[in-house]
Amino acid sequence: MSNNRLFEAAMHDRSRRDFLKTLLALGSAALLGPALQIHAANAVLSVPPTIMLHSKDRWKLINILAWLKHNNYTSLTYRDLINVIQGNATLPDNPIILTIDDIGTSYILPYYMAMIEYVDKAGYQGVVGVVTHATPTENPANWATLRAMADRGWQIDTHTTHHHLLPQVKTVDELRTEIVDSAKMIVDGTGQQPISLIVPYANLYLRGGKYDQRIFDVSAEANLQFVVGMKDGRYLNPVDHAPYYLGRVGVGVDSKQTGWWITHFNSDEPAPTDNS
Ligand SMILES: [Zn+2]
Repeated sequence: MSNNRLFEAAMHDRSRRDFLKTLLALGSAALLGPALQIHAANAVLSVPPTIMLHSKDRWKLINILAWLKHNNYTSLTYRDLINVIQGNATLPDNPIILTIDDIGTSYILPYYMAMIEYVDKAGYQGVVGVVTHATPTENPANWATLRAMADRGWQIDTHTTHHHLLPQVKTVDELRTEIVDSAKMIVDGTGQQPISLIVPYANLYLRGGKYDQRIFDVSAEANLQFVVGMKDGRYLNPVDHAPYYLGRVGVGVDSKQTGWWITHFNSDEPAPTDNS
């Protein structure tokens, strides 16, 4: 069978393992297109850049969206990314993931709704990281808002139950309250299965800088596909087990700096020290 035929056969096979095995057997970046780039000896995916937004970034968001439009970026969500990893979809040429953190279920700041509207108007879709301390019974109106967003294509992900610093949470059961319970509540409240844990304070490190493995283990129990922080997480190996770790960039002083961080997301080039 020719390489092309093998590749086509793999594309029609929805088994992720077989698909990846074939890719590895072919070992040819040329067949993969921009979606999966061969990095080192393995088939490693260049993680698309994610911007981390908070309500304080609402004014800058307008310029960031204009910069993304001007540079022909296409938004995707973590759900789309898991489809790419499973071989069921390809990445667009200039992919961008927009995440908005800290939306609370007890009170949704009006600023957030304005940001969501800017993103919608720009023709983009995004991901919200929700802190789920109020249940759907306690605050049905806010959960109805989240459900309406999910119905419009927004992805509702967990930013935990109480926004604790996770590596300092003492027991695995308490971590389950933060991650598993929060993910379940999102399913109950919106009808949508969350895909990611957006880690509070982007901090998942133990003393000494190692990842707190419990965060990944408990996220796997919650059927989450990604653990999202800030630093590193620029590449992932699809043959590894989910949840995959993903990094993000913050918002710079202006759209030029944010744009530099986006365009250099997968490069080791150090950021310029001045902003000229
Ligand atoms: Zn947060």
